[in-house]
Amino acid sequence: MNLGLSEEQAAVRQLARDFVEREIAPHVVAWDRAEEVDRGIVKKLGDIGFLGLTIDEEYGGSGGDHLAYCLVTEELGRGDSSVRGIVSVSLGLVAKTIAAWGGEEQKRRWLPGLTAGEYVGCFGLTEPGTGSDAGSLTTRAVRDGDDYVLNGTKMFITNGTWADVVLLFARSTDAPGHKGVSAFLIPTDTPGLTRRTLHGKLGLRGQATAELVLQDVRVPASAMVGAEGKGFNVAMSALAKGRMSVAAGCVGIAQAALDAAVAYAGEREQFGTPIAHHQLVQELLSDIAVDVDAARLLTWRVADLIDRGEPFAVESSKAKLFASEAAVRAANNALQVFGGYGYIDEYPVGKLLRDARVMTLYEGTSQIQKLLIGRALTGVSAF
Ligand code: FAD
Repeated sequence: MNLGLSEEQAAVRQLARDFVEREIAPHVVAWDRAEEVDRGIVKKLGDIGFLGLTIDEEYGGSGGDHLAYCLVTEELGRGDSSVRGIVSVSLGLVAKTIAAWGGEEQKRRWLPGLTAGEYVGCFGLTEPGTGSDAGSLTTRAVRDGDDYVLNGTKMFITNGTWADVVLLFARSTDAPGHKGVSAFLIPTDTPGLTRRTLHGKLGLRGQATAELVLQDVRVPASAMVGAEGKGFNVAMSALAKGRMSVAAGCVGIAQAALDAAVAYAGEREQFGTPIAHHQLVQELLSDIAVDVDAARLLTWRVADLIDRGEPFAVESSKAKLFASEAAVRAANNALQVFGGYGYIDEYPVGKLLRDARVMTLYEGTSQIQKLLIGRALTGVSAF
């Protein structure tokens, strides 16, 4: 067993660290206050290769393994979870799914643009009435000659108003497969597709989260990804890998919380001494440090399993469950170290806590991860 990084992996991590210092860190507070990151960041992420990780060079990707993907995701999460989320969705949920499930024409049509940061992708699964119970989605795709006509509403879609293409899940007529859900790649400028930004989020404020409404949206049958009726499998396999990406982002949040808290504890003096000298402050710091390490090791294990071609879905749920809860704890403990200053956005930890909070909700809530793990342990589905 070797838990160290290869030279190449360490170099990728350093590249990501330098990118975050240069392109993200100076703007984090302003983007958060403005509720929008600078859209130019997407092209920069593409230029440096971070939107093409694990994708074949033949399709414009930058290759690399899943550990490299985790290292970059962690660093982006350490810098700004809003930016990290753009990558986790556009690359992690959309491009990687096209690479795994798409036909040759779909790969050539979409992957070069997505990996270059010329296109942004979004993932449309959740609906107003179906979140955890995604399999009960009601958006319909009705076959009409060589086309499908789609009607329905999608909710909470990350990158929604920015995206050029949505990987969208709908119940297609007469589909014989699992729950009759099929996946479609739909350009967002298709007539009948309207989008509305959701404002006032607790965290990830720089990220465009949207509601998508489809009213008689017509797409050719060739827009379907994978076989008809197999769309739920497409969605679940995307989310199994996506959870590793969320977990890596959470490690980044927890690491940022640790770095900030340790530095502050060394500078801030109370009772005539730096607060780092107080045992109860050290307890807060050590709790954060253990959460960081445990979350990172669980996450790296998922990457290792994927790269070795072994089953990883349950481990991905464990990593996402632990890392997301750990990120919330870590950011909250760091805020405690900062005292009242932690409550003001001139200091970084309040934003870390706000950004961490959604991680236990999306791509399957903590309860849903426990049910997935429980089903694997017992063979009983308790949803
Ligand atoms: P509900 O499913 O209504 O759950 C409410 C509560 O009930 C939760 O605590 C849940 O754990 C619990 N619960 C539900 N069922 C059970 C059960 N069987 N047993 C025990 N407890 C249960 N979706 C997308 O498709 N694409 C995106 O890009 C995307 N981005 C998002 C970005 C943000 C900022 C947010 C907030 C959400 C995003 N989502 C996205 C949606 C997200 O995945 C859902 O919010 C999530 O799956 C939970 O669904 P829900 O909000 O409807 O909650």
